[in-house]
Amino acid sequence: MNAMVLKKLGTALESTELADRQPGPGEIRVKVAACGVCRTDLHVVDGELPAPQVPIIPGHEIVGRIDMIGAGVEGLCVGERVGIPWLGHTCGVCPYCMGGRENLCDRPIFTGYTRDGGFATATIADARFAFPLGEAGSDVALAPLLCAGLIGWRSLVIAGEGKRLGLYGFGAAAHIVAQVAKWQGRSVFAFTRPGDVATQAFARRLNAIWAGGSDEMPPQPLDAAIIFATVGDLVPKALKAVRKGGRVVCAGVHMSDIPSFPYRLLWEERQIVSVANLTRQDGIDFLRLAPEIGIVTETTSYPLHQANQALADLRAGRFEGAAVLVP
Ligand SMILES: [Zn+2]
Ligand SMILES: [Zn+2]
Repeated sequence: MNAMVLKKLGTALESTELADRQPGPGEIRVKVAACGVCRTDLHVVDGELPAPQVPIIPGHEIVGRIDMIGAGVEGLCVGERVGIPWLGHTCGVCPYCMGGRENLCDRPIFTGYTRDGGFATATIADARFAFPLGEAGSDVALAPLLCAGLIGWRSLVIAGEGKRLGLYGFGAAAHIVAQVAKWQGRSVFAFTRPGDVATQAFARRLNAIWAGGSDEMPPQPLDAAIIFATVGDLVPKALKAVRKGGRVVCAGVHMSDIPSFPYRLLWEERQIVSVANLTRQDGIDFLRLAPEIGIVTETTSYPLHQANQALADLRAGRFEGAAVLVP
């Protein structure tokens, strides 16, 4: 197999030939057909997550076909198309796993962070954490659903039922959430980097009823806001934009420091919450709804060996929607 490997934190991935791996008990081997590039991959490469480990193969928005099955795997077959998400394994016995919150597991394994991921021609996954994807939709179009879609979905659920929804940072996750929110009958207000008129136009094309800079106030107070950008400065800004009792959801795995702000921005029962990871139930719920909603992802494809270019373009905001690597 060939993989783009992070050998040292903060350096470029290196194209590397590796011996083919065999799936262990409970595992599947998947021939990768497409793997999305997520903001979290940048945090992995930059060493911004706790307990970084190298060498590691990043990538946790994997679409591929099973080509080998380990002992004891049930309900999956060779040739079947599956998606492999960020949540790669949970312990099953900690209080969070037992309480239906496996996204907070005490001993989790994350794809592309603490186990090798999908920036490769093949990968090994815990079969219980792979989602059957069926045959509808192209591999590239589906890949961004595996993280941007899933985390976006969980964030949207946690944002509550409010009709007026603000999205700060209009990248891969927001462009999917905007479509779900529209389908649910909500109004989307999109906030981008100030002056980023191209992304604002992209948001309007996806039916945002208003799009502007993150330094602007929306024309009406929001019921809830989701912050996908990794910028802590946005937290007080979003608090200012939500109504009394409104909720601000921080969806990123990493964020720059939140500046201090006057208590009156939080007063009147406004809330700040974060979203961490996903549960398998999130995946089942979202992937079942996605075809019904008719989500269309905007993707830019790169050959696998151009993973560094894809990461650089994501960092610089050089494309709308999501980047996807194709082996
Ligand atoms: Zn991700
Ligand atoms: Zn656990």
